[in-house]
Amino acid sequence: MKPILYNKSRAIRSYNSRIRFLVFHYTAGNFSSSLSALTGPNVSAHYLIPDVTDPSYVKAGYTEQEVFNLVDEQHRAWHAGVSAWGDRTSLNDTSIGVEIVNLASYKDGVFTFPPYHPAQIIAIEELALNILGRYPDISPTQVLGHSDISIGRKSDPGPAFPWHALYLKGVGAWFDDATRQAFQDRYAQTGMPERAELLKLFKTYGYDVSKASTAQGYNQLVRAFQLHFRPANYSGVMDVETAANLAALVSKYFP
Ligand SMILES: [Zn+2]
Repeated sequence: MKPILYNKSRAIRSYNSRIRFLVFHYTAGNFSSSLSALTGPNVSAHYLIPDVTDPSYVKAGYTEQEVFNLVDEQHRAWHAGVSAWGDRTSLNDTSIGVEIVNLASYKDGVFTFPPYHPAQIIAIEELALNILGRYPDISPTQVLGHSDISIGRKSDPGPAFPWHALYLKGVGAWFDDATRQAFQDRYAQTGMPERAELLKLFKTYGYDVSKASTAQGYNQLVRAFQLHFRPANYSGVMDVETAANLAALVSKYFP
């Protein structure tokens, strides 16, 4: 039998990777419980980034910051659940999921978001740059948090996640300050855009606005945006600063 011949004389260009998104999560549990959950029958992620100060991590015998590759990137991990961004839904099909050990919690209606460990942040940055280098179809606006794609259902990776610092290293999107300030000055003088106009901006950027017609749905949409792009105050109440951040992002990435 003759061997199968592959034409290696020219690069084939009419294909692309299945992967379009990089999605960050927190585990809301320690290393031990996170690893149990992520290797159980219900949820999984491609990567797990532990916290070196987590007693259960130390007890498991680790002394340094590691990154665990739990699911092969070629496989579909179950990390996003019901999700939407732009014209896509069910983002498990098209994303790489990164879980980060963090003891964020929710009790009596109040979220607590502890900071990420500096060693974790370095690991997140290195992993993300490695992934982005291999998947050019993941554009900056497609580096997302679970809260961005599962609005009202998820809050991870939370307001303590270093989105801006990661942007400065080349991971994900952020607005330019001068543009942001120009929008804020304009809104301070003339008032904020109408809700319909703001919803257009959210939709253009990628957010799912399909549930934003109710007061609760709109609040959850605004909160999702704030968790990522205005973490100092994620009340879900639209204000001039939030609107300016949104407008600056859209004008930068979707001019
Ligand atoms: Zn998540």
